[in-house]
Amino acid sequence: MSTSEPASVRRQDPLAEPLESSVLRGQPATRLQKAFGFTTVGELMRHYPRNYQHWGTLTPIADLELDEYVTILAEITSVSTRQMANRRGSMMHVKVTDGSSSLDLAFFNAQRLKHLIQPGRRLLFSGKVTLYRGKRQLAHPTPVPFETEAEALAQLDRPLPIYPATGTLNTLQIRKAVHTVLDVLGDVPDPIPPDVLARRGLIPLTDALHQVHRPLDDAAWRQAHARLKFEEAFVLQVALARRRARDRAGTATARVVRPGGLVEAFDARLPFTLTEGQVEVSREIAEDLAQAHPMHRLLQGEVGSGKTVVALRAMLTVVDAGGQAALLAPTEVLAGQHYRSITAMLGPLAQRGMLGGDDRGTQVVLLTGSIPARSRRRVLIDAFTGDAGIVVGTHALLQESVEFGDLGLVVVDEQHRFGVEQRDVLRGKGRVTTPHLLVMTATPIPRTVAMTVFGDLETSTLRELPRGRSPITTHIVPIFTKPNWYERTWARVAEEVAAGHQAYVVCPRIGEDPAAGDALLDGPGPDDDEGLLVGPDEPDDGAAARPMRGVLEVLAELRATPVLEGLRIEVLHGRLPAEQRDATMRAFAAGEVDVLVATTVIEVGVDVPNATVMVVMDADRFGVSQLHQLRGRVGRGGHPGLCLLMAPAGPSDRLNAVAGSLDGFELAQADLEQRREGDVLGASQSGGKSSLRLLRVLRDEPIIESARHDATALIAQDVELEVHPVLARALADLLDEDREAYLDRG
Ligand code: ADP
Ligand code: MG
Repeated sequence: MSTSEPASVRRQDPLAEPLESSVLRGQPATRLQKAFGFTTVGELMRHYPRNYQHWGTLTPIADLELDEYVTILAEITSVSTRQMANRRGSMMHVKVTDGSSSLDLAFFNAQRLKHLIQPGRRLLFSGKVTLYRGKRQLAHPTPVPFETEAEALAQLDRPLPIYPATGTLNTLQIRKAVHTVLDVLGDVPDPIPPDVLARRGLIPLTDALHQVHRPLDDAAWRQAHARLKFEEAFVLQVALARRRARDRAGTATARVVRPGGLVEAFDARLPFTLTEGQVEVSREIAEDLAQAHPMHRLLQGEVGSGKTVVALRAMLTVVDAGGQAALLAPTEVLAGQHYRSITAMLGPLAQRGMLGGDDRGTQVVLLTGSIPARSRRRVLIDAFTGDAGIVVGTHALLQESVEFGDLGLVVVDEQHRFGVEQRDVLRGKGRVTTPHLLVMTATPIPRTVAMTVFGDLETSTLRELPRGRSPITTHIVPIFTKPNWYERTWARVAEEVAAGHQAYVVCPRIGEDPAAGDALLDGPGPDDDEGLLVGPDEPDDGAAARPMRGVLEVLAELRATPVLEGLRIEVLHGRLPAEQRDATMRAFAAGEVDVLVATTVIEVGVDVPNATVMVVMDADRFGVSQLHQLRGRVGRGGHPGLCLLMAPAGPSDRLNAVAGSLDGFELAQADLEQRREGDVLGASQSGGKSSLRLLRVLRDEPIIESARHDATALIAQDVELEVHPVLARALADLLDEDREAYLDRG
């Protein structure tokens, strides 16, 4: 029996050694700690090169082309150093020749190269050809000494690792530290079991570390990458597989649909028939709920596909069976809206014990941070006694003071806003058994992301929109080239309002600029992140220079626009007090506001069927999926929807994609492909940003697939990783990072 205690494994692992006591003890260790926060040998070894430079072939000096990166082999003919006249520091001028032509090299503050740069020496120089006073030169080339000409030529074949560096530690210094460690590094324990390595044709960790940092050729680092990527996928998949296995072993209370109960009464009230997809998914959920093991299901479907109805039927099933359900929403606006639409859909069924209430019914309560203390106490009591069958709320639901009589189902809306830990806090509120879990997301998730981020969940998808949904037409408004289209846009808004409809105007930021034209001061992104799915896209250069339109400024403009005269125009954004936001949203839903100027707070889930037109200001500032989500707010009530994308810089690929497709899955894939990985996964969901260094979730599907297969097989044999102590430790480290990421986000 091998020892399964991680601490003992750690002691035998050279990667666990503190840098302080390693070969780098002293100044190098301190500098690495300062620059990157590294404290162990392992952290340095996992600091992989960003890419590899190639010396390329030798270029004769006579053939050097301006702006090219070149390598020359040349002899130094003269060296002179002088102080710079108007700057501190010195400049070293070096003349070299390759036998037929000569060239100038310039080095700034190059004292430490003095021993190397001596007249008569032959060296390799690698750098970029620039022009100085009409003459070609190499400025600050990298000089490389060699013993023999043959060695110099061999050097050209070796990929040169380039590291992510900082202002205080450059790639050469990092390379040197890494080499110093590699020179004495013994065998490191491998988290991937030997049989898996053999089956997948992968090299051991020790070899991979040598090859990634000091490759002999390109094939060597590629081989290392293949292994290191697999390791990242494998450790993550083992974590997910273990979670699935543990969850499956957990006990839940089976909640079975009761004939003649709430679900039936609810269905009878519905003004429409469920789509086939809704029926099918409802059946899957009912089957899960009837098990004595907790359900873990992800329900994905576009905005408006009818997820909420499906979730409500699941909640009612649990209430029918004597339990309670909690619905967790990411914002107060959404929680409030869920509360209102659920009570509206249930009608008398949501008013048990009240005048006109239905005795088969239950109570629905709302709990958010801004609920006054008095009503809050009432809500807490209703949740505790079980009188409230359905509790809707925000993060406020996660507080300790919130207790349930018998929590049987947790529904999490818009999952990407919540970490795994948060949904676990709520599930921990089950009295005796673990509640079932249903997670809803409107962002279509590509398969591999689903396998990675949501790898512990089963998935159901609603693919069709309910019938009667009207198509949305999307137009790009290139306001600089066609300024009259700008006027025309507001005229269209006025027409819609005249026809009895309502409009949204979405802006990338709130505004109220202390300094005008402040987009750059504020940073490039929208300044209200309440509704943002992901960080704002990195704007292209043109966009960064242009101030973004803010809600407050646009409000003032629209109120002064003649065609909109007499219209009731209001604002909605994250900086308003919650009651005011709620009141505005309610007024808009009731048709008392004609035009709502808002930030992306309206992005998810807001449902006002009478709104038919949406104008997006600075549409180029939003991501593809985000725009698609936004426009899903219009065309919900059987009237055709119109979305006008204001594009100051004219049409772009992204805007064309949005205007050209209504398929959310297709757009999400296109969008994700353009994003950086961290944005795709989110810090905590990726299992800690730093745990996925090389793996690309969208591109490495086959790797993730095989890692998942192997991980599942391994966990089936050894759930607690008793005979895989090295892997157990890799997992512990991963989960530590996870927890840290969670804490960081506060
Ligand atoms: P999602 O939560 O997926 O965005 P909702 O459940 O909020 O979608 O549904 C959007 C709108 O469509 C709601 O007004 C809802 O009442 C309506 N709806 C849901 N299912 C159907 C259906 N089968 N037929 C017609 N309308 C439906
Ligand atoms: Mg919804």
